[in-house]
Amino acid sequence: MTQVELHHGAATDVGLVRTVNEDAYLVAPPIFVVADGMGGHADGEFASRTVVEEFTRLAEGYDPTRGTETVTAVLEASQRRLLEHGRLGMRGPGTTVVAALLVEDDGEPAWLLVNLGDSRIYAVRGGALEQVSTDHSVVQELVDSGEITAAEADEHPERHVITRALGGPRLEPPDFFVLPVTEVERLLLCSDGVSGLVDDDRIAAILAESPDPRDAADRLVAAALEAGGDDNATAVVVDVVGLVPDQAYDSEQQRVSLEQKLGALP
Ligand code: MN
Repeated sequence: MTQVELHHGAATDVGLVRTVNEDAYLVAPPIFVVADGMGGHADGEFASRTVVEEFTRLAEGYDPTRGTETVTAVLEASQRRLLEHGRLGMRGPGTTVVAALLVEDDGEPAWLLVNLGDSRIYAVRGGALEQVSTDHSVVQELVDSGEITAAEADEHPERHVITRALGGPRLEPPDFFVLPVTEVERLLLCSDGVSGLVDDDRIAAILAESPDPRDAADRLVAAALEAGGDDNATAVVVDVVGLVPDQAYDSEQQRVSLEQKLGALP
């Protein structure tokens, strides 16, 4: 597979209102995760940390050819641990999860993007920001059915109510998206503490003004705090900085092709 060079940055902050940061993230190239835990106090922290731990385990000896099935196994293992924790007398811990993993898709590098809940994945493609994931939330359902507008969703009293997450009574199916690596300049994974407080235009401007992904992540979290910081805020920014073709393979192809041409000469 073509080698892909990635640069990344990550930032998280408890915010200005909460006392505990229940968000967690993982940067273990080529695996990146943001999780937003729920359940209050230790439970939310436990839930987001659990899914990050399970992805960390996946990062050790990672096989890019087995993308979707390994992610499903990670989510199942996380779900088992959350249910077990719930049985030990704690209130049911839950967490959202968004993940980006480099996988091999037909021999070519691709991003496998995963979403469960209302954390978000954005991609910068051709200089433009687009939201890749769709929130699993009550307000997203109301927007989809045309009952409210996207602008009304931002102010809706139930804007924090999610319809799918890890840790519920049964494992809900995540959404999967696959994007060719060559089409994506930058990925942003963030919790709703960023996307709920910083609008898409501002997110796009910060990403455009911050060539270094570490600055981009720091500035996105800072913008969430400036906007009130009423939730934990986490951002992970990943840049595809270069594709290095497998040299051995290419030179072999060229040699064979040259021999064929020479052999074809009269
Ligand atoms: Mn949150």
